Amino acid sequence: MAKKADDFKDYDITTRAIHTGTAYDMETGAVRRPLHMANSFKLPDDLSKVNYSSTDLLMYARNGNPNQHWLEEKIASLHNADDAIVLASGVGALHALFWTLLKSGDHVVYPKVSYMAVYRMFHELFNVKFGVETQMVDMTDLKAVEKAITPETRLVHIETPDNPTNAVTDIAAVAEIAHKNGALLSVDNTFASPLNQHPLELGADFVVESLTKFVNGHGDAQGGAIVSNNLKMMDEIRYEAQVNVGAVISPFNAWQIFRGSVTFPLRMQRINESSQKIAEWLEKRKNVTFVSYPGLKSNSSHQIAKKQMHSGYGGVISFGVMADDKTVEKICAALKIITFAVSLGHDESLIFPQPSYDERINLYPEKFRKGFIRFSVGLEDSNDIIGDLDQAFKTVGL
Ligand SMILES: *Cc1c(COP(=O)(O)O)cnc(C)c1O
Repeated sequence: MAKKADDFKDYDITTRAIHTGTAYDMETGAVRRPLHMANSFKLPDDLSKVNYSSTDLLMYARNGNPNQHWLEEKIASLHNADDAIVLASGVGALHALFWTLLKSGDHVVYPKVSYMAVYRMFHELFNVKFGVETQMVDMTDLKAVEKAITPETRLVHIETPDNPTNAVTDIAAVAEIAHKNGALLSVDNTFASPLNQHPLELGADFVVESLTKFVNGHGDAQGGAIVSNNLKMMDEIRYEAQVNVGAVISPFNAWQIFRGSVTFPLRMQRINESSQKIAEWLEKRKNVTFVSYPGLKSNSSHQIAKKQMHSGYGGVISFGVMADDKTVEKICAALKIITFAVSLGHDESLIFPQPSYDERINLYPEKFRKGFIRFSVGLEDSNDIIGDLDQAFKTVGL
């Protein structure tokens, strides 16, 4: 029998990550779930009851595949939630949610600083192509959030901590504002990860996560999830966005992320600890102009972060150095163990400079406009990481 999420709900997240969604294979007794690379599944002999838009009956891979379903049980369990939908990427999940919820004439409030694809969807796609009214706002300013809401506001979308500045938004406070005005709240939880933050328990209606990052954690598979307790809306998302738009995850990627997710809580604990230590070191390092990490006591959002991030402050450190774009590139190129590449949440540490010519640079607070680097802390020894940063700073005379 499959072990269901409910069987494990009283256990710690480290235990749930190992056991939820897994089962002995009925045919072979294997203690691991098989990988089902099949497009089609045998139909019942009596077709009269088959609904071809359903996601319940295994019929065609885009309507749902077993590896996707097992991963969905796991992701829901990591959030203590009733349901999760796993799609082809984090952006696929964001799009599926927005596409299903919003229609022309609706209003959406979204963050001034957010993942690039969210900015593009609301700054130039949903508004221009579909007549959705979009309003950008500084989510750390609750009065501004309240003011941005109109009677047409269907959704408030936030990202906390945000990519790339690591600013923290008060989830419970924004949930209250949204709900008071009849709007829904979605939270991009990718930076925090399900070990550190459960937005549904703080009042959010939907959580979106890129599984490509910490949950898979090995830099070798792309996926995204929508998590919610609103089963009716989740069914709508499955029907409208998964079956009829099509961003379903491949069975192989679901299988890989399922495997990565087993060690996710342990990896994340280690990443939380190392990140805190490295952020504190950076804060004291000469020629570092600022360090944005929610775990730092000096961080203006530390108290809000402490309230809503229950196990740690995540694995991304945003910081600045006293250097121009070219010098920042030289620092990144001089690193020996930290990898100079985009993305975050891998086993290896990753560094990515945020160039001052980025089209969104003026949306960031002033201090982020020069020498800004986004650093994703990996599983290497934290002293080795610190040593690598230090030697690379020194190669450019910092
Ligand atoms: C990476 C990321 C996404 C997009 O996820 P993909 O899996 O790359 O599509 C969305 N939100 C945040 C905050 C991210 O860091």
